[in-house]
Amino acid sequence: MHLIIAEKNISANRIAQILAGSERVRATKDGSVSTYSFDTKTVVGLKGHVVEVDFEPGYTNWRSETHTPRSLIDAGIIKKPTEKKIVNLIQKLSKKADLVTIATDYDTEGELIGKEAYELVRAVNPSVRINRARFSAITPAEIRSAFENLTDLDFDLAAAGEARQTVDLMWGAALTRFISLAARRGGTNILSVGRVQSPTLAMIVEREREIESFVPETYWMLSLETEKDSVTIEARHTAGRFTDHEAALAAEAGTKEPLVVKDVNEGQKIDRAPTPLDTTTFIVAASRLGFSAANAMRIAEDLYMNGYISYPRTDNTVYPKSLNLNGILDSLRGGVFDKDVAWVQQNRRPVPTRGKKESTDHPPIHPTGTAAREALGQDRWKVYELVVRRFLATLSPDAKWATTRYNFDASGEPYRATGGRLLYDGWRRVYPYSEAKENILPVLATGERLPIRRVILEEKETQPPARFSQSRLIQVMEELGLGTKSTRHEVIGKLVSRRYVEGNPLRPTLVGRAVIDALDNHAETITEPEMTRTLEEHMQLIKQNQRSRDDVVTESREMLHRVFDKLEAHEAEIGAEIMEQTAEEHTIGPCPVCNHDLRIRHIGVSQFIGCTGYPECRFNISLPGSTWGKAIRVETTCPEHNLSHVRLIRKGARPWDIGCPLCSHIASNVEALRMMPSMTDDLMHRLHAHHIYTVSEVAGMPPEDLAKAVDGDVKEVVQLANEAEDALEILRRRSELRKFIRKTVPPRKGRSHAKIIKSLLEQGIGDIHALSLSDVAALKKAGIPEATGNEILDAVRGLCNERTLREAGVPAVSLKKYQAGGVSSPDDLCYLPIPYLASKTGINPETVHKHVDLVCKHFGRPTPPKLSRTNLERGRKELLTVPGIGEATVDRLYLAGIYDAATLRDANPDEIATITGIPKARLRDYIGYLK
Ligand SMILES: [Zn+2]
Ligand SMILES: [Zn+2]
Repeated sequence: MHLIIAEKNISANRIAQILAGSERVRATKDGSVSTYSFDTKTVVGLKGHVVEVDFEPGYTNWRSETHTPRSLIDAGIIKKPTEKKIVNLIQKLSKKADLVTIATDYDTEGELIGKEAYELVRAVNPSVRINRARFSAITPAEIRSAFENLTDLDFDLAAAGEARQTVDLMWGAALTRFISLAARRGGTNILSVGRVQSPTLAMIVEREREIESFVPETYWMLSLETEKDSVTIEARHTAGRFTDHEAALAAEAGTKEPLVVKDVNEGQKIDRAPTPLDTTTFIVAASRLGFSAANAMRIAEDLYMNGYISYPRTDNTVYPKSLNLNGILDSLRGGVFDKDVAWVQQNRRPVPTRGKKESTDHPPIHPTGTAAREALGQDRWKVYELVVRRFLATLSPDAKWATTRYNFDASGEPYRATGGRLLYDGWRRVYPYSEAKENILPVLATGERLPIRRVILEEKETQPPARFSQSRLIQVMEELGLGTKSTRHEVIGKLVSRRYVEGNPLRPTLVGRAVIDALDNHAETITEPEMTRTLEEHMQLIKQNQRSRDDVVTESREMLHRVFDKLEAHEAEIGAEIMEQTAEEHTIGPCPVCNHDLRIRHIGVSQFIGCTGYPECRFNISLPGSTWGKAIRVETTCPEHNLSHVRLIRKGARPWDIGCPLCSHIASNVEALRMMPSMTDDLMHRLHAHHIYTVSEVAGMPPEDLAKAVDGDVKEVVQLANEAEDALEILRRRSELRKFIRKTVPPRKGRSHAKIIKSLLEQGIGDIHALSLSDVAALKKAGIPEATGNEILDAVRGLCNERTLREAGVPAVSLKKYQAGGVSSPDDLCYLPIPYLASKTGINPETVHKHVDLVCKHFGRPTPPKLSRTNLERGRKELLTVPGIGEATVDRLYLAGIYDAATLRDANPDEIATITGIPKARLRDYIGYLK
């Protein structure tokens, strides 16, 4: 069997279809993994990387004393499967294979993925031949040619990829751990640092600093409007920017008629057709259509996998000779682009345009198949059309412009007007993405005099440098050698998802700035592009077999050790710097009580807003637990309280906007305050004015403070505090009821817990005790069906019983034993005989008596007499001597309080028969025997 391993499932399918030709391909699923077979061949797809590099076991504990962040630099590195099902299937198939072909993408990453597959095959089949198919597009011609010219895996290329993987893991993990620990951040708040990520973030931070420190300068622009044949002509003063206001005013005043045409310059300008697309220029072009970098690449990848365009990860901007340009043009005839293609074929430029970068691995991005708009959907079609039109443009003639320049003299002040007219549209005809703006001027002759209609003096300001857009940043990263064509857009995506940057154009967050500042101050190697660029150069050397992978990794290890020398020496400072700066992102505004900062605080899963004036000021606002989402500050501010709004964010859930935390705090406590009988609007107003918002504050305040706040006397205040206590108690009980309902009633559509509670409260059922005294009808009214209602009542009654028994003083351990013995209510303990209770539960009768005594006292009932264990055991023996009485009968007699010969002898058989169910005749026999 000939096993072919492709990079993804979708490419496996296409490769199979192409190689099979007219033969039918059988698709089979093994687990969830598809294989495509024909003839003696089987094609299977990977999922990109199916193994990942990780540290050998023992390094998972971040706070380990022995395995410090620095120890990760020299930690052993292992490969472990991430896609077990695929790995298993590949190995199963490999055992049966007599030839294996690796058909992953052709670049460093693809070669590494190929090598991973190679290792999986080798592990189970050491002797099978393994070769490699290389192609830049999944089209019939490319694929067939690749399989006719099979080569070997390029281990040097793969080694370059491995070196990068190892270095990235080591730098990323060691630095992330160090910085996070220094800044005391853990869990989802860790501060990630990375080899490419950090220098990229540093650029964004640096740009933001330039913008902030930018001081705008005022300048003036002078222009005039004249007219010929009713066409307005705008001319600018040749001085350009006036930085001196006086000079500008003088020039304005000096601008007078006559306006004379001094000279006329007519010329032509060539407007070059655009160059072929590499990854970066593609991302830039797609961003003009509104696609983010990551989105553009995702769509391009999809188009590649489906055979519509060539491999989108390329640094090449020159079409290789081998590329059949005429063939591609022919293939595009007949479809939507028919007319444009025909025009290009008739007007072909002799040589296609070429960009500055030329490489041999992949051709520039170009179309490889025809597509229908309906089949692709809107976004994919837009990207496909862009690739097609760009391809056509690179084969089209240049456009030509006629240019006109007039120089004027206005009584000594020089002016100039320039115009342009498209003479020949050339490539612009097939590539409408960049607009051609014409400015057609009327014909003028030297010496002609014209009127001045208007003189315009505009005051302007110099502008700060612009923030980076995603596509601009990718261009700059490329210029600096940061990342690769395949990773740059992913790096930006990571910066966004880690909340280091936000918006487009990109702006650093406070955390992003804090991390970069700390690194800049103590280990600038990490934020400068130098180190990353060096690694890229080393990788080139590995590819060319001029350096070994291990050699490069070792050098990188040493570099990282030097970085750690500096970092460890300043750990405390680094931590303090980051914490101090990021504190600001949690600050939401002034405390209404003391004016210190209010800050969002996270402690474990709980979070709240506290005053930085603590402990002198105890003002705080509670927030829902972080399982509802992590509380963050947002830009909006409450005009009344001058506090930033707060939002809860959780992965995979819609954010929950709390709004102004104080407004929300006040609103949610108004209802509770109104539960106090003496509460009036006026009183509420006075409380709010003194920043007292909750009943618990009213209840807990020293009376003199409360008196001052509400302007009342001591008697009034004591009354208020008591009412607040009562309200609190009601609230506490309600919240308990709410918890109970949430726990016991399964949620259903149209029957929310809030709705049930509301109905119960309306029926006067406000706590668990009231619920235990209610009935199925009440629950039915609240929307709970009878069966569930009964279960709930059982549960709530059990809970109340348990609570009463505990209140009476029965210890929890014994309660469990009573429950296990079927004794669960306080009544059971009060009315059931002690021998019965003891035998049912296995508890010593003396202990049972103690419990019974507690419960009876709790309810004000008389306690039954004590019974010792010895007496109980003796009595049992006595009873067992009576003919006909066995163990089971003894237990039944216990129910009637009969535990020995004497109590049985004195008993009334009629009564006992009713209680125990033992026939009267037999009871008479027992009693007769004893008498
Ligand atoms: Zn305060
Ligand atoms: Zn507010």
